[in-house]
Amino acid sequence: MSVAALNRTLEQELLALLRGASLECLVCGEFVLHGNGCVACPECGAQFGPAAADTGALLQLQTG
Ligand SMILES: [Zn+2]
Repeated sequence: MSVAALNRTLEQELLALLRGASLECLVCGEFVLHGNGCVACPECGAQFGPAAADTGALLQLQTG
């Protein structure tokens, strides 16, 4: 799979996540929590938001 194809897949997964169509964390696969227009994973601390999708930065990770 090419990098572009992988990015495309991640983008689709991210959009599904933000729409609420998917509830699995893209990083660890645990259930995520929705709130304030973004999605956060309580398990690994990853946060996914519309801003990240708009700027092309697919994953906005905030750890710790
Ligand atoms: Zn996670």
